[in-house]
Formats: sequence, C-alpha cells, structure tokens
Amino acid sequence: MNTPWATVDAEVIERVDEVIARTIRPMAAEVDGASVFPADAVADLAASGLGVMLMPAELGGTATSSATYAEAMMRIAAECGATSTVYMTQMHCAHPIHLQGSKPQIESWLPRICDGSAVGAIALTEPSAGSDVGAMRTVARRDGDAYVVNGEKTFISNGDRADVIVLFATVDPAQGKRGVTAFLLETAGLEGFEAGPPMKKLGQKGASTVTLAFQDCRIPASARMGAEGEGYPLLLRSVVRSRISAAAQGVGFATGAFDATVAWAAERDMLSSRTAAAQDLQFELARLRGEITAARAMLLSVCDLVDARGDDEPVAEVSLVKLHCTALGTTVAAACVELLGPDGDLVAAGAERRLRDAKIAEIYDGTNQIQSMLVARDIRQSVTATAAPRAT
Ligand SMILES: Cc1cc2nc3c(=O)[nH]c(=O)nc-3n(C[C@H](O)[C@H](O)[C@H](O)COP(=O)(O)OP(=O)(O)OC[C@H]3O[C@@H](n4cnc5c(N)ncnc54)[C@H](O)[C@@H]3O)c2cc1C
Repeated sequence: MNTPWATVDAEVIERVDEVIARTIRPMAAEVDGASVFPADAVADLAASGLGVMLMPAELGGTATSSATYAEAMMRIAAECGATSTVYMTQMHCAHPIHLQGSKPQIESWLPRICDGSAVGAIALTEPSAGSDVGAMRTVARRDGDAYVVNGEKTFISNGDRADVIVLFATVDPAQGKRGVTAFLLETAGLEGFEAGPPMKKLGQKGASTVTLAFQDCRIPASARMGAEGEGYPLLLRSVVRSRISAAAQGVGFATGAFDATVAWAAERDMLSSRTAAAQDLQFELARLRGEITAARAMLLSVCDLVDARGDDEPVAEVSLVKLHCTALGTTVAAACVELLGPDGDLVAAGAERRLRDAKIAEIYDGTNQIQSMLVARDIRQSVTATAAPRAT
C-alpha cells in the first residue's frame, strides 16, 4: 500500500504510521482479545494532530483530502479494526455538526472532538428502524423552550463513552422521513438518558456498541441542529463520508489479513520455494494483491470525486465503493484464513481477527443490500435520463 496517490498527503500518512507503530499495533491483539476500548490509540491519534482529519484546521482538524483520510483509515483498520471504528465515529459525529450545527455548537464541540478531549457518537438506528429511516420512533416533542425525547436507539458506536451525541429523532412519526430532525446532545448530567452495557460481538470487539434509552429526556430547543424536518437530508449527506470510512476499513481488513498471510508464508520459506504447494500459495497471493490494489485505487478515486463534487455528493459511486470494498474485506480475509490451513483458525496468526472485523463492515453504514439498491436506482435513472424520446 505504499504506491503514491496524488491527493494523499504523505506527511500526514507518515504521522499515522508513527501512531500505528507506537500505540495501535502493540495493543491490537489485546483490544480484540479482551474487548479493550482503544482509548489510548485514539488519544495518540488526536495528540498527533490527526483527531478528525476532514475538519478545517481552524476548528482543530487536519483539513486533509478525503483520499488522505481513506488512506489513513485503511492503514489503521489493517492493524486494529476496533481502533478504526472508534476513530471514524469521531468523524461521523463531527461531520454533521460541521454541516448543520449552529455556530455555538460548532465552536463548542468540534475543537474538543478534534483534540480528543471529547468522544462523539451518532445515533440513528433503532430496534425497528435503520435502513428504513421513515419508521423512526424515537420522538422529540416540543415543549416550550425544550424538546422531550422518548425512545430507544441501538447499535450505537461509542454510545456509552460519548460526551456528545448527534441524535436523529422524529418530531412527528406520522410524517415519516419529513419528521426526522437532528439534535446535539451533551451527555454530562443529562437526565432521562441511559446507555446500555457494551454488546458482545463477532468482531471489532474493543469498539463499544450500545443501546441508548431516552425517557422524558428534556433537552433545550437550542440543541436542535437545523430546522425541524431537516434531519433526513443531513443524514443523506453524512453517510457519504461514513461509507468512505467503511470502504476504507474493508480494504484495510483485506490488507491486514494479506500481510499476516505473507508473514506466515515467509516464516515457512514458502515465498521462494518452487514446490507445487508453495507456488499455488504464491499465485493466490498475487491474485489477492491485485484485488486489494484495484480496490484501493477505486476507493481513492471515488474520494477524489467526492472532493471535486463538493455539495453535489456522488451518492451512487460512494455506495459502489462501500459495497465493493467491504465485500472485498470479507472475501480476501476468508481466502487468507483458508490459505493458512489449520493455522487460519489461530488467533496468533492474525487472519481470523480480520475476517471477523470485516464481516460487520458489510452490515453497518447501510447494509450492502441497501448499497445495491442505491446503485440499481442510479442505473435505472441513468437509463431513463438517456432514453431517446419515443416517436408518437
Ligand atoms: C458494529 C455496529 C456498529 C454500528 N454503529 C452504529 C452507529 O454508530 N450509529 C447508528 O445509528 N447505527 C449503527 N449501527 C447500525 C447499522 O448501521 C444498522 O444496523 C444497519 O444500517 C442496518 O440497519 P437495520 O438495523 O435497520 O437493519 P434492517 O434494515 O432491519 O436489516 C435487516 C436485513 O434486511 C435487509 N434489508 C432491509 N431493508 C431492505 C430492503 N429494502 N431491500 C432488501 N433488503 C433489505 C438488510 O440488508 C439486512 O440484511 C451499527 C451496527 C453495527 C453492527
């Protein structure tokens, strides 16, 4: 993954590599094995000026290109899936605040998320609403100069650690998507709010994922981000960046599994041997490296497209890259586990962890079925747009 890419800032990536060597790599096995929240790793990233890379420098961010962010995420995910998830969640919280927060919300929270003194979360999913945003049942009812929130969110990354949460709730369930409204919640001393214990999961085990319960939870009206009903468009814009994160994780997990397999093969002199078994392995490694290289190029070029298009986000291309790269993470990691034979099952070999981490990235940030639907819709629209008018 050392091939230069014009829009990737090499100096920033050098700093990322330093944090990886210093903190992320040494802790990765323990973070997974003992489900340790990777607070040290995320703090080290922030202390190295990498807290939230896509935010402007005046708010404490690194103001990098999307390609630089994706390259960093690939490298972090290759080493430790949980760290990459906690780290990207900081960005997923900061990004909607930056897009639609009030001046006080932006000035109060973004510098703190960027410097790592505040942990952020974003809460959309409910037990019966995630893919189907219109089915959202967490209600925020206006009451004088406040809103009263009731309902439950689930599968919320960083939810039990968060100082600040971007909450999507509906002001009126009957309005479907048009009722969805965004709020910025400060969790300190917040009454009627409770985070559940970390869920026990397949992978990314150190990354905390929890339920959030709201019971007559009163928040000031000034906590609203944008107008009532402006939550759904904000959500659509937010997922463009979060799907880039998931795609980068997919390539990262594939790379982590690949590197573990190469190290395993090198130890057994299988990279230079000309036996039939060794050559089969070498050819399979060559094929997997080609797949990873192609996915990385696809991801970085979509990142460049995201930056070039500004507010006119390339939704279908981002869905394509999320779909392709997260699926690749699972197939490459599974192929690596298989190449290792029985050692593929061993925690010490390092491939099984990447396979467990990779599978989940196909599910969050919009499942890959939902990404397929969005791409299919784009194909349909492109046909409609280019269809010649019928002769009458
Ligand atoms: C580790 C982890 C971390 C997460 N972090 C967060 C977070 O920080 N914040 C947050 O808000 N959420 C988070 N989520 C939730 C995640 O984004 C959602 O679970 C995911 O988007 C799926 O939505 P859902 O739960 O509504 O599933 P459902 O929509 O109920 O999906 C169930 C199945 O049905 C399929 N399906 C649904 N609709 C259709 C359709 N129309 N056509 C075809 N198939 C369909 C899905 O593809 C899936 O296979 C996280 C999830 C996990 C596992």
